[in-house]
Amino acid sequence: MKTALVTGASRGIGSAVAVALAQMGYAVVINYMKSKDRAENLAKVITDSYKTPALALQCDVSDSQQVAKMFSTIKENFGGVDVLVNNAGVSSQKMLTDISVEEWKKTIGVNLDGAFYCSKEALPYMISKKQGSIINISSMWGQVGASCEVHYSTAKAGLIGFTKALAKEVALSNIRVNAVAPGVVMTDMMSSFDENTVAELKEETPLQRLGTPKNIADAVAFLVSDKAEFITGQVLGVNGGFII
Ligand code: NAP
Repeated sequence: MKTALVTGASRGIGSAVAVALAQMGYAVVINYMKSKDRAENLAKVITDSYKTPALALQCDVSDSQQVAKMFSTIKENFGGVDVLVNNAGVSSQKMLTDISVEEWKKTIGVNLDGAFYCSKEALPYMISKKQGSIINISSMWGQVGASCEVHYSTAKAGLIGFTKALAKEVALSNIRVNAVAPGVVMTDMMSSFDENTVAELKEETPLQRLGTPKNIADAVAFLVSDKAEFITGQVLGVNGGFII
């Protein structure tokens, strides 16, 4: 049985991705930071509903030592990961001049450094098996830049560069690396936006609706699947046409 690790899978998009991968038959490692109950509940639902192993593991992906520890637990339980979805993310909205050094470091740390640490730990096993798939959850704001989110846009743009460069580096080992760049998706991450702003974002989206976590999970499932066996180094926009 193949194993998938989804970082930040206790809520929102990551949680939907974990379910989609369980439906594809993967054993799933559900990484979380604070939401222990939600992660453990999701593991139970996956085990009961899809009859596939699921394990919730606490780890701050911005801390390389915690990531190394999480991977040694994964090694003991599953051998390694065949699919890595770097999904964990944080965001906040403020002018560049108001971003503290700590907030800058945290945003880059979770969204970008976390993908580096997890990929570095995941790759030796994938290389030894000559197969694997890494999906990085970027954002349309990493593609075009968002005002008042310079730290977030920088991290998400970094993930796109990371995806393209790593895809070239590991292709000879039959490992594919792709990114998904969501548009506006209704999750806790959007909770700081007021009703009017959300309505405006909806109106600005050509398809006239907001994305769901399942929309993003379906794109991840496609990229992981054999149907995408010739796709690597790409950024798949899942944004209702918000940026084209
Ligand atoms: P969310 O609902 O806020 O969930 C964030 C997830 O990340 C949670 O599971 C959280 O875990 C986890 N997390 C936060 N810090 C972490 C850390 N240091 N280590 C490990 N896990 C951590 O966000 P979402 O909307 O689902 O976003 C998922 C991804 O999609 C993010 O990378 C985000 O940037 C990207 N994205 C979202 C949107 C959108 O509109 N929602 C658009 C574009 C891109 P705990 O709850 O356990 O702390």
